[in-house]
Amino acid sequence: MAEQDLYEVLGVAKDASQDDIKKAYRKLSKKYHPDLNHEPGAEDKFKAVNEAYETLGDPQKRAQYDQFGSTGGQQQGFGGGAGGFGGQDFGGFGGGGFEDIFSSFFGGAGGGGRRPNPTAPQQGRDLQYEMTLKFEDAIFGKKTNITYNREEHCETCGGSGAKPGTSPVTCSKCHGSGYIQVQTNTPLGRMMSQQVCDVCHGTGKEIKEKCATCGGSGHTEQSHSIKVTVPAGVEEGQQMRLQNQGEAGANGGPYGDLFIIFRVEPSDEFERDGATIYFKLPIDFVQAALGDEVAVKTVHGDVKLKIPAGTQTGTTFRLRGKGAPRLRGNGNGDERVTVSIQTPTKLNKGQKEALKTFAKASGKSVAGNGKSSLFDKLRGV
Ligand SMILES: [Zn+2]
Ligand SMILES: [Zn+2]
Repeated sequence: MAEQDLYEVLGVAKDASQDDIKKAYRKLSKKYHPDLNHEPGAEDKFKAVNEAYETLGDPQKRAQYDQFGSTGGQQQGFGGGAGGFGGQDFGGFGGGGFEDIFSSFFGGAGGGGRRPNPTAPQQGRDLQYEMTLKFEDAIFGKKTNITYNREEHCETCGGSGAKPGTSPVTCSKCHGSGYIQVQTNTPLGRMMSQQVCDVCHGTGKEIKEKCATCGGSGHTEQSHSIKVTVPAGVEEGQQMRLQNQGEAGANGGPYGDLFIIFRVEPSDEFERDGATIYFKLPIDFVQAALGDEVAVKTVHGDVKLKIPAGTQTGTTFRLRGKGAPRLRGNGNGDERVTVSIQTPTKLNKGQKEALKTFAKASGKSVAGNGKSSLFDKLRGV
């Protein structure tokens, strides 16, 4: 089956919400359900809709599909497309299929007519891992272990897929090329195109006696644990590439890579933009008027800050080097402290008198607010 854009299959936009995707899937799977729809082609559409939803319905698989054009799962791969991620071939099943059809339409515009040799070692798929970090861990970094499932080379057969003691033989359908000629009806007319051989899945080899452990695939899914050092100063959405921590390659090719995507939890106290950390500091109006020295929270511990006399609300102070580390380059960013001046909400009698005296000394007469004194009376002040 020719690979189709999964969003098109479900008839949704690329930025559709998970909810919209679910709705579209429900509608279409009902429409094409083989029990309900006996029109020719309905069953194929039903299958395609289900396959599309398997990927797009899962936010993680969807993110991977958006980025790499494939999910790295059991589905057919999407050949490089317009170059693929980093211009490398995604090995394994169906690799190159889409591209070859594309090439035969447009004279190789897609990938320069590149046709991977199916029997050559191919690097395995890249995987994605989302890691959620506490605000402080993103700033200071940490060492941690992660565990995930990936396809590994089968130990029983050494990755050949053949029963130990036997060897794969040349594929009888494609004679070892890994490709077959297929006539397809397209909107542009009848075309001959090359497709990956459906017998050997492009490997050019047929396995007569399959390895019992891996069922002939040469790979087995294994739980895989690795140590990860999160660098100090990572930010939301940043990625880290770990070589060879992806899935096993075909024909003894190297493992793909693992991309760790960092998600950073927000902090209740701080905000962060790159290496700069923002902090809001409430001070009272007497401190603002007379000046003071206060302790200010930073991610590196409390720091003393001099508030000059006559500080206005909204004034920002800079605490040099008290921000997050810069990922590239030396040292830390700054913490920016913005003060907000708090007006007292409850005044006792002495405070009120003092303020009246203050007003008088300033040559002003302040009427005060009746409501507040009413509350005072109710409270028995
Ligand atoms: Zn095996
Ligand atoms: Zn074949």
